[in-house]
Amino acid sequence: MTDLVVLLDVDNTLLDNDLVRTGLEQELSGVLGRGQASRFWEIYEQVRAETDLVNFPETMERFGQECPDTGCLSRVSATLYAFPFDRYVFPESLSAIRHVASFATPVILSDGDQLFQRYKIRAAGLEEAVGGNVLVYVHKEQSTGDICKRFPATHYAIVDDKTWIHAAMKAAMGEQITTVMVCQGQYAHDPAHHSFPEADLTIEGIGGLLALGPEWLNASRA
Ligand SMILES: [Mg+2]
Repeated sequence: MTDLVVLLDVDNTLLDNDLVRTGLEQELSGVLGRGQASRFWEIYEQVRAETDLVNFPETMERFGQECPDTGCLSRVSATLYAFPFDRYVFPESLSAIRHVASFATPVILSDGDQLFQRYKIRAAGLEEAVGGNVLVYVHKEQSTGDICKRFPATHYAIVDDKTWIHAAMKAAMGEQITTVMVCQGQYAHDPAHHSFPEADLTIEGIGGLLALGPEWLNASRA
């Protein structure tokens, strides 16, 4: 049992996922041509709408079934797995993780599929940065029991760019968790996502974590 576990989201918290998406769109257009590439992203959105999950393996599976060119799927796969995710880590993410590690246990808490999302976290250098403490769930806000079992602690903090994640984690864990909203990426500034109660703390970017010590992250206990 540790005193404090800090749960760190990946997409648009530690990694600039909006830019990753733009970069992947450009690369897939180059590899597939515009028509096939736009069909790939249509399927990607379809899978996301159906399963509430970004799922590249399932997207590739469905895309492969309708793709007439037999080499096409291996080119998509090669492109996705060769993508330089480490270049899209926000400049202050690694120092923020080191800062957290000086007084707490940093744990990555991400949503996604178990194959590609985990690969992406590893390829970005983030798995190594948190000493291998990586959790990936379909719905992290519904997985608090498992999170607490795997990383038992007196208190938790969560750093995430989505307001509804903070609200759901707070509802599930109450005073045992401090929520930290990081205002980065497409969701952070979308008014449609601001109907939820405010997080305990708000930072403009992941670098804002450097100014927060254990007393801040434990603030909601007071
Ligand atoms: Mg996120």
